[in-house]
Amino acid sequence: MTNAPEFVREIRINPVDPTESVLVSTARGMRPRKAEERVERDTRERVETCPFCRGNEDKTPPTIKAYPSARDWQIRIVENLYPVLADDRQQSNIAFGLQQVIDGYGRHEVVIDHPNHAIGLHDMGREHLANLFLTYQERMAEMYAADPRLRYVLVFKNFGPAAGASIPHTHSQIIATPVVPENVQGEVFHSRNHYRKVNQCVFCSLIDEALTFEATIYDRQSGQVRRKVNVGQYVVERGERFIAIKPFASRYEWEVHIMPMRHEADFLRATREDLADFAQVLRRTMARLDQVIGGAQYNFFLHSLPHGDEFKDCGPSYHWHLEICPRTSIPTGFELGSGLFVSTISPERAAEQLRAVELTD
Ligand SMILES: [Zn+2]
Ligand SMILES: [Zn+2]
Ligand SMILES: [Zn+2]
Repeated sequence: MTNAPEFVREIRINPVDPTESVLVSTARGMRPRKAEERVERDTRERVETCPFCRGNEDKTPPTIKAYPSARDWQIRIVENLYPVLADDRQQSNIAFGLQQVIDGYGRHEVVIDHPNHAIGLHDMGREHLANLFLTYQERMAEMYAADPRLRYVLVFKNFGPAAGASIPHTHSQIIATPVVPENVQGEVFHSRNHYRKVNQCVFCSLIDEALTFEATIYDRQSGQVRRKVNVGQYVVERGERFIAIKPFASRYEWEVHIMPMRHEADFLRATREDLADFAQVLRRTMARLDQVIGGAQYNFFLHSLPHGDEFKDCGPSYHWHLEICPRTSIPTGFELGSGLFVSTISPERAAEQLRAVELTD
C-alpha cells in the first residue's frame, strides 16, 4: 500500500527555516546527473599506512581524549593536523567599513570513531555508537567550558570521498567557533518566531504530524485490536525516545533527521539512556540507507542549541537533531546559483523505500 504520489513537481518550503526551499521534481531528466552508482566499499579492517589505524598512534598529534583508555582505545580524539581554526592567535576582531573580520580562533579536532578502518556506522555495535555520542557530548561540554567566546561546537562526519572525507579511516570532526553557523542560526531564530506565534516548538509539531498517520485497526465484531499501523508517511525509524524522519522539504534525496520525541533543545542534556535509544535508531536508519543506496557516502551534522546570551530564550522553541545527508549526486550549477536544492525523488517515496527494508536487528 502506498499513498505516495506518482509524480511530483513543486517547490516545498522548509517548515523550520522558510527562507530555504527545495524543488521536488520527479520528472525524468530534470537533472543531468549520472545515475546513482553503487560505490565499491572499502572493507579493510586495518591499513598499515593509515595514521588512524591502531598501532599508528605516533603518526597523529597527541591524544586529547580516548575511550575507554588511551592504551586500548575504541574512540580517540586528536587535534586536527590541518585545523581550519586554532586557538593560537590572539589578535582582536577587525572592523573596517564593510570589511568585518572575526578572528579565526576556535578548536578543530578529529574523532577517530572506531579502530576498524572502514567500518560503517550501521556495523558498529549499539553500545559503541552510544559511547561515541557520549564522547562527543563530553568533549563539547569541555570546549564550551574552556572558552566562553565559543558560541557553537559543531560535530559532523564526512564519510566517503563524495562527502569530502580526505582520510578513508572512519572519523568525525568537532569544530568550535566564535560564530554560530548561518544555517543553525536560521533554524534557531525561525523556530523562535514560530514559537512566539503558536506557542509550540516547530520540531515537536513536525513529529506530531509525522505520527498522525498512525492507525489502529480494530476488529469490527470483537472490538479487539487487529493490527497497529505505526508508521507515518515520513517516519523512517522509531525507537522509544527517538524518531527518524524524512523531511518534507529534504535538500538531499535520501536525507533523514533523527530527533528526540520529547522536547529538548540541548544535545548536552541527553542522558546515557537517551543515547542508548538514539544509537539504536541511528544504526537502523544507517542500515536502511545502506541497503537502499548501497555504500552510502554521507555527511551528518549535529544541531543543538548554541551558547550565548541571544539564544538564552530559545530553549522552548529549538529542538536538537542529527541531520544525515547522503551524497548521491553532485550539485548542479542551477542549485549552486539559485540556492534552490533539487530533489528528483519525492520524500514520501524515499521514506517508503527506506521503511520497506527488512532488518534483522
Ligand atoms: Zn585506518
Ligand atoms: Zn520540540
Ligand atoms: Zn538542523
